[in-house]
Amino acid sequence: MQSGLAVFELFLLVLIGSALIVGVIFIYRGMRGVPVLSDPKCTRCGYDLRWIKPDVNVVCPECGSDLTARRASSTMAVWEAG
Ligand SMILES: [Zn+2]
Repeated sequence: MQSGLAVFELFLLVLIGSALIVGVIFIYRGMRGVPVLSDPKCTRCGYDLRWIKPDVNVVCPECGSDLTARRASSTMAVWEAG
């Protein structure tokens, strides 16, 4: 009987497969330029600022909060890096 070995091989395959899938997802998201950590949101009202450019829209379209302020967007650092 080699059932023990078969289970171990199956476990290894699942482990490698999961790692490959996670790696592909991260590479795919990175190529598209989508922030991996979290999407930028207005700290005052939580409005989604993903498609708002800070050099075009200087205020939040939802609440009018000043987006040029350093802490206006929760993920401004990630945003500037991209
Ligand atoms: Zn807002």
